[in-house]
Formats: sequence, C-alpha cells, structure tokens
Amino acid sequence: MNRFETVAIHAGQEPDPVTGAVVPPIHQVSTFKQDGVGGLRGGYEYSRSANPTRTALEENLAALEDGRRGLAFASGLAAEDCLLRTLLVPGDHLVIPNDAYGGTFRLVSKVVERWGVAWSVADTSDPAAVRAALRPETKAVWVETPSNPLLGITDIAAVAQIAHEGGARLVVDNTFASPYLQQPLALGADVVVHSTTKYLGGHSDVVGGALVTSDEALAQELAFHQNAMGAVAGPFDSWLVMRGVKTLAVRMDRHSANASRVAEMLTAHPRVTRVLYPGLPSHPGHETAAKQMRDFGGMVSFRVEGGEEAAVAVCERTRLFTLGESLGGVESLIEHPGRMTHASAAGSALEVPADLVRLSVGIEAVEDLLTDLSEALG
Ligand SMILES: *Cc1c(COP(=O)(O)O)cnc(C)c1O
Repeated sequence: MNRFETVAIHAGQEPDPVTGAVVPPIHQVSTFKQDGVGGLRGGYEYSRSANPTRTALEENLAALEDGRRGLAFASGLAAEDCLLRTLLVPGDHLVIPNDAYGGTFRLVSKVVERWGVAWSVADTSDPAAVRAALRPETKAVWVETPSNPLLGITDIAAVAQIAHEGGARLVVDNTFASPYLQQPLALGADVVVHSTTKYLGGHSDVVGGALVTSDEALAQELAFHQNAMGAVAGPFDSWLVMRGVKTLAVRMDRHSANASRVAEMLTAHPRVTRVLYPGLPSHPGHETAAKQMRDFGGMVSFRVEGGEEAAVAVCERTRLFTLGESLGGVESLIEHPGRMTHASAAGSALEVPADLVRLSVGIEAVEDLLTDLSEALG
C-alpha cells in the first residue's frame, strides 16, 4: 500500500487514456452522447448524476480517508445537508458538539429541526457526556475535532464505541485536521465530512464539500440523495480541489510547524490570557490529539486581555494576517469568531468568548508571522 503523500498525488489521477495528459481534464460538460438509447460509453449520462472530473476527485477523496466511497458537493454545508437528510427522519435525535462550526449549528437548529428532528448539545470531549446525551431515538452523534473555534479535542475511538453501543452512527467533521493529520474512519467513525474549501483546496480559491464512508449501504443512500438533491461539485471546482490535494502533506507539515511556533510565542505574551492549541502540553486534549493525530494542525485561537474591544482591535491591526473568515489557505488569516464566523451561535450553548481571536496560520516565513502578531498585540 502506498503512503499518504503518494496516494494524494495518484489516487483517481491516472493519465488521461485518450491524450496521455498527466492531469485529469476538466470535463466542463452537462450531458454525454449515447450510442443508441441508454447506450452509455463511460457510464456517464448527465453531470449532476456523475461527471468524470468529479469522479476523479471522489476516488481521490475516498483514498485520502482510507474509505471505500467519496462524494463531492458544492460546499461543506451542502455535504452536511445531504448527510443529515440521509441519516435522519422525523422523530430521530441527533447529538451535536458544544463547539462546532457555526454553520453546522445553524443548519441543525434552523433548518433540520423544522423537519421534526430533535437535537441536543453535548461536550464531546467528555465521552461520559456523550453517553448521557444518547436517547433511544438517537441516530447520529456529530463530532468536530479539533473543534472550531475553541480547538477542543474529542477521542474519536472512545466516542465511536459509545455511539455504536447506543445504536447511533458517528460523524466526524475532519475539516480542521485534514486526512493527512487524522483519519477518523480508521478510528471507528462511520462518515467523514469535509469542507474542501479549507485545507484540501488549500488556496482560498474554491468552495466545496465532501463525504467519505466505508459503509457501502450508506454510500449508496448518500449517492442517491446527492443526485436527488443536486448540490454537486462542478467540474472546475472538482479540479481545483484535486490540484490542492496534491500538496496537502507538505502544506500541513508547514502549517503545523508555523502554528506551533505561533502558539509558543502567544503563550509567552503578557497580553494573551489563554492560548488554545492542541500541540501545547497544557491543552486538556493534548494527549488524545497526540494519540489520534500525526501533528496538531494550523489553527490557533487565543484570548486577549481587555475583552471584546481588545480582541477586535488585534484583528484590525495585523498586516500580514488578513482579516477574514474561512481558513486552511496558504495565506494567514485572523478573525473575531464572536462577531464573524460564530455570530449565529450568539445566545446559544455554542456561544464563544467575546475576547477570542482565531488564527489560520499560513505557510509564510514564520518569523514574519511572529513579528506581525507581536506588533498587533502591542
Ligand atoms: C467551513 C466549514 C464548514 C462548512 O463548509 P463550507 O464549504 O463553507 O460550506 C464545515 N465545517 C467546518 C469545520 C468548517 O470550517
């Protein structure tokens, strides 16, 4: 079996059989000629149902997560929507984490709930809390690790066992770690979710999402819903994600190395009251992260002395760290979760501290990043 870096470059990427092009072509096409009614040449009939460029990406994604089946969507939330409407019907119950991507919380609380699906919140970093949240009608447990924006760590193997004992499936949003740093299916998860917009794409130039599973029956239901609902990844977007994936391993190594230097610098800074990075031995999830991750990733959050105004001021003073939402690109980003990415969680169990700043540490020269942050902190 080839190693991750090799798989990332080769899975689903055989040279084009017609021309020999070493990169899969962008099949920017909606429909395919049939040789007689129903006579499909390559199995393709219409690009919502399947498109060769998307297939190349889907095979690649499945291999990255060491899963059997990958499905590519128009966004991370489109993937989540397809998954939730496949796993849950009215009367079912879902457990979501107390720290999660704000859009996941909004989708569950504002959209899925209206269809008669119950949900409750648990601190998934505590396996006992997950066990206590299970109900007879619980069909799925949703986990994000590391979580957004508090960088909490959930023990995937422990929670998988608890979910399965309770007759529920375990979903892991693996966006923050990427499959290079963490492979949830191997730890017992049933489905992996990605916003490919982030580290998989890696260059802040595409919005996309993915699901990967090894459960063949579930994969078939998901593929049916993917086509029935239609929020698929387009050919060009699929191609951009594939291009990003080829450098995922080298990018994640550099993201992790830079983030760990940034976390150390912030820990020593007098105006920083708390640094949230799973690579720090003081982080409550450090041991679990070290056990289930190859490295600790590029996301760092911290709390600033002086409350919300001080945190907002830091976000507005950096020059290299660009103020903006999103994460996982080669360039460093800074944001204020309370007013930006997690504004929709205000007043809920997922509300984030007002003095919190979140960094997506890029792959620039780390000395320049450290200087920029020191100057912004003053
Ligand atoms: C961005 C993000 C999503 C949603 O993905 P989109 O591509 O923006 O729809 C889901 N989960 C996490 C952890 C994210 O960071």
